[in-house]
Amino acid sequence: MKTVNQIYINGEFVTPYGTEIYDLINPSNNEKIGEVTLADAIDTKNAIAAAKAAFRTFSKSSISERIGYLTKLKIAIEKRKQDFISTMIEEYGGTHQFVTMSNEHTGSWFDSMIEVLKNFEFERTINAASVRLQPVGVVAIITPWNASNSSVTSKVATAIAAGCTVVIKPSEMSALQTNVLMEAFHDAGLPKGVINVVTGLGNVVGTELTENPGVTKISFTGSTAVGKSIAKRAADTMKRVTLELGGKSPNIILDDADLDAAIPMAVYGAYMNSGQACIAPTRLLVPQHKLDQVNAIAKATAARIVVGLPQHPDTNIGPMVSVKQFDRVQHYIKTGIEEGATLLTGGLGKPEGLEDGNFVKATIFTNVSNDMTIAQQEIFGPVLCIIPYQTEEEAIEIANDTPYGLAAYITSADRERAIRVASEIDAGRVCINGFSHDPFVPFGGFKQSGIGREYGAYGLQPYLEIKAVLS
Ligand code: NAD
Repeated sequence: MKTVNQIYINGEFVTPYGTEIYDLINPSNNEKIGEVTLADAIDTKNAIAAAKAAFRTFSKSSISERIGYLTKLKIAIEKRKQDFISTMIEEYGGTHQFVTMSNEHTGSWFDSMIEVLKNFEFERTINAASVRLQPVGVVAIITPWNASNSSVTSKVATAIAAGCTVVIKPSEMSALQTNVLMEAFHDAGLPKGVINVVTGLGNVVGTELTENPGVTKISFTGSTAVGKSIAKRAADTMKRVTLELGGKSPNIILDDADLDAAIPMAVYGAYMNSGQACIAPTRLLVPQHKLDQVNAIAKATAARIVVGLPQHPDTNIGPMVSVKQFDRVQHYIKTGIEEGATLLTGGLGKPEGLEDGNFVKATIFTNVSNDMTIAQQEIFGPVLCIIPYQTEEEAIEIANDTPYGLAAYITSADRERAIRVASEIDAGRVCINGFSHDPFVPFGGFKQSGIGREYGAYGLQPYLEIKAVLS
């Protein structure tokens, strides 16, 4: 049993005023593995006050000082890599495969911001005016359970690069990972109050951060429903908001694509992070005349997918994070069947031998029509929808016929053709012939997938306020 009963404010581990206890449950067997004492509104106010006080000095730090801090943070975080991996497996059931890969990228959030800082123009001249980009203020960082470590570290790296101080509210379900993060932040030895961490509930700590006038900006990653509510409430104090929200990303396989390569990649992609990924390509758009061939390859691929305990290196799909999330995914599978989609593989119930945890069968629906619930709503589980199209134009229309616009994927033997199709897609990031990661390239969503962009120079800009001095 692990106990997390401290938060991190003003450079110190402190006992929270909050007294509510939240149980941490291992999703592989639903046994209790620990408990966390949740912070409350007083703790949050104290963290905001510490960040506000630290901002006075930290906002004046030089670029070389910030590069020094980013370097220290990178070293301290990377030192804890194995702790992050084992905790993520135990706490949310992240597969060994996924969390190992995810932790390989952690250093890149700091490296990329160091590189951006070396070239970023904080002062510009327009005619007789001098234009200064200055740190926006205290930033509240609110993050989800499915990508806690990467969301927190990428946002912290950007805030520090900008000269902002932060109050971090990770998901209450990520308390063990957060504990490792707090220790690493402390080891990095930044000035007191620059980084503060308060683990608590969204409607308590999250609400205080959203409404408190001491917070100038919110950088939120999470569901579209919560993102909308934050944006509405943040407007009262005119906070700047960056919102990274949900997705229902299309994966367009053009008619010249090599199906033997593209379809297995599409199936594995849809199941990334056990299907609990905002950018997962969950709508697979394929030419109608190739549907039988696609179905056969997809079914054969799913038969090779290993659903199992997340610590096993060959497991592709681990448990859903909670019983609630398991039930939600089951509800969508049931809805897909009721709405008339063809169940190609998987379906309701748990895989044999995995009854104790929140395991879902690797599921594929085919002959899905884009107006079905399973094609429109974010399921957040290992459920892939194969949607046939007649023409390239129709594929583009279907791809864009969604409230979301986070990511999209296109596969074609003709790169120029794929790039032309990409120009028609309403999504913040379009990957051609595979899945690529680049921490310098902007990330964020069109439509209800969010507001603003993260990463690289485009990600730094929203942490800065623009001041023009005319003389
Ligand atoms: P969630 O929206 O339920 O919670 C996210 C965070 O918001 C948590 O820390 C939660 O405690 C907090 N919160 C909840 N209610 C709040 C309130 N009223 N005020 C302030 N904060 C509040 O999301 P989740 O279930 O933790 O994560 C899954 C969702 O996150 C999915 O929709 C997924 O697509 C999305 N996501 C998006 C990205 C992206 O980069 N676009 C990345 C990862 C996850």
